[in-house]
Amino acid sequence: MKEYLKHHEWEVIEEGLNPHYNMVSESVFSLGNGRMGQRANFEEYYSGETLKGSYVAGIYYPDKTRVGWWKNGYPEYFAKVLNAPSWIGIRIAIGKQMLDLAKCKVEGFRRVLDMKRGLLTRSFTATLADGKTLKVEAKRFCSMAKGEIGAIRYSITAVNFSDKATVTLDIDADVVNKDSNYDEKFWEEVSKEAKEGRAIVIAQTKKTFFHVATGMCYSLSEAGKEVKAERVNVEQREKYAGNVLQLTLNEGKEMVIYKYAAVLSSENHPKDKLLAHCHKVLDEAIATGFDKLLEDHEKVWKHKWEECDITIEGDVAAQQGIRFNIFQLTQTYTGEDERLNIGPKGFTGEKYGGSTYWDTEAYCIPFYLGTAEKKVARNLLVYRYKHLPKAIENAKKLGFTDGAAFYPFVTMNGEECHNEWEITFEEIHRTSAMAYAIRDYIDYTGDDAYLAEYGLEVLIGISRFWAQRATWSTDKNKYVVLGVTGPNEYENNVNNNWYTNYLGAWTLRYTQFAIDHVKKTNSARYSEIVSKTSFDEAKEASKWKDISEKMYYPADERRGVILQQDGFFDKELLRVNDLKPSQRPLNQKWSWDRILRSCFIKQADVLQGLYLFEDDFEIETLRKNFDFYEPMTVHESSLSPCVHAILAARLGYKERAYEFYLRTARLDLDDYNNDTEEGCHITSMAGTWMSVVKGFGGMRVKNGQLHINPFLPDKWKSYSFRLEFRKRVIKIRVTADGVETIRESGDPLEVIVKEKAVKL
Ligand code: BGC
Repeated sequence: MKEYLKHHEWEVIEEGLNPHYNMVSESVFSLGNGRMGQRANFEEYYSGETLKGSYVAGIYYPDKTRVGWWKNGYPEYFAKVLNAPSWIGIRIAIGKQMLDLAKCKVEGFRRVLDMKRGLLTRSFTATLADGKTLKVEAKRFCSMAKGEIGAIRYSITAVNFSDKATVTLDIDADVVNKDSNYDEKFWEEVSKEAKEGRAIVIAQTKKTFFHVATGMCYSLSEAGKEVKAERVNVEQREKYAGNVLQLTLNEGKEMVIYKYAAVLSSENHPKDKLLAHCHKVLDEAIATGFDKLLEDHEKVWKHKWEECDITIEGDVAAQQGIRFNIFQLTQTYTGEDERLNIGPKGFTGEKYGGSTYWDTEAYCIPFYLGTAEKKVARNLLVYRYKHLPKAIENAKKLGFTDGAAFYPFVTMNGEECHNEWEITFEEIHRTSAMAYAIRDYIDYTGDDAYLAEYGLEVLIGISRFWAQRATWSTDKNKYVVLGVTGPNEYENNVNNNWYTNYLGAWTLRYTQFAIDHVKKTNSARYSEIVSKTSFDEAKEASKWKDISEKMYYPADERRGVILQQDGFFDKELLRVNDLKPSQRPLNQKWSWDRILRSCFIKQADVLQGLYLFEDDFEIETLRKNFDFYEPMTVHESSLSPCVHAILAARLGYKERAYEFYLRTARLDLDDYNNDTEEGCHITSMAGTWMSVVKGFGGMRVKNGQLHINPFLPDKWKSYSFRLEFRKRVIKIRVTADGVETIRESGDPLEVIVKEKAVKL
């Protein structure tokens, strides 16, 4: 755990240069705007430890899978989130001396991420080997208002000298992915162009042939007046283009470099128009100017915060933590493009590959439902709808037939692209996360027309998968589901994982509900779906009913708890408290063999099911299972503690709920797991939001009505959250004296607060 960042309500602040933590800071201070993003690398040359990272949404590379022994049906590639051309470079040399923070004396270093404005600022004073001192302040943002524009205001003041300076402003497409399987470079040059004042590189990805045009232009001002460089040389080499400027820095006079970037991809522009469009975006950026671009960008952030802010009084660290999570999620996905999704690392690192996991449906959709207009979550659902043909192909590759849909565990384009069979083949529960998200969306927004439009087709595909995946056991006289991995990835190839069986059977029931609904509300569309999917309702739906009614659920009568999977109680039932701290985390300290034999649970599994379906169970059942499984859970996935927090809150275990919340609230800010340098845990940030809103706030939607049943954690004086709910913004404030519920916008509404109806 590192606690080098200062606590502040709206800002993340690093004071003093921390070379050892630089890669952590590069992740934490990352910027994005839904279309592109980047780690907080320095603009100037830096020879210290750094992980360079720029990313363009939707652009990936299918890196050939590396496995020991190839087996039928293995995914051919692991999709890499692609490190993209960098536009931030501003290299400064005074005479022959390069400004390199690893090599000079740095004082007053401050890096600030202003979350309210979406602005990264860095300031410092650097003294070079010959005693020349420079004062630098760099401001940077990726425009939320104009998704293809990024801008930097880089100010240099020569403190104690006047001298010639060489400033290189460039576009560098010669970038590598650290996680490349075969040390291959994934970009090839298509074209480049450099002239005075401007440089553009168009690069294409190998195999996928995405084109990305990255361009830059700039202006200079000295002591507030626009100036020109004394000389400009154009520099070009493979995958690289830039301008080298000769300037004179005059003692005490501030020189400001405004660098504007345009990042355009062939996902949004025809390839043959990319160059022309890139010029246009650059023209627009420079004509608008830094201040106005920033103002427009800030306006978008202001509006976003009005919808989604959480305030916490009496605990600055907690306030900063929750805002950081909301900030990162909001800048990762804006919901404007239904082809995009939320990778576990967002725009902050490479690890994990792919852009879409079940994390989106199980964790992120509730966050976007609560914090943004409904189109944002809807687009995430439509993304999966568009991938339905691929999900059917994925199933086919594994031997399923007749339109069965098996959604991938990891994907970029709908195809499975993860390379661990225990997960790819066996974590079948994820395909139903898509079904659950449809219900979640409809419950929250009331948009049940979604079923006819898109939902039902997806549900039919998924139900067909379950119908073929479940096996009739003559022995048990029940349907069983064999050879799976549940959410708890510390068990592989188990039979009858309760969560999986429950979710599968629920999907079959929900699909029947959807069929009846669409038939009743839109019979023309129903006939269309029947013919499009060759759906034989009489035959298929009766089989689904049979399976859902006769599904086998492992349970232990004597202990009165659900069984995580067949045979779970043959294990030595230990508790996490029995483990020595030196043995943790298990995935780094124990052999895989030992992990699989042990009872320890990586992340919520039975409890994940009880969280999703809490209304199906008596409170005592929730309690018994929580009391039983919680002590065995090591929470070695950051997706886990939030589920336990929500259940603990429901059970009245307030302190425990708070403890679980703390485990992810500042996960990246404090580098809790020592892995933030690889990138932030973006999807688990949605879980932290859920801990507050669904956990402490007790927010639920039941029969279309918003329920709030909050408590105040002891450490806090008050907290408030906003919910975007059915075209209204509702603010809920919880203090020691009670709950205040205010309708900030939209029509009147009745909500249930602590089980009483309140008119807003
Ligand atoms: C978790 C998965 C999750 C993945 C990506 C893994 O560690 O076990 O449930 O989908 O990380 O966040």
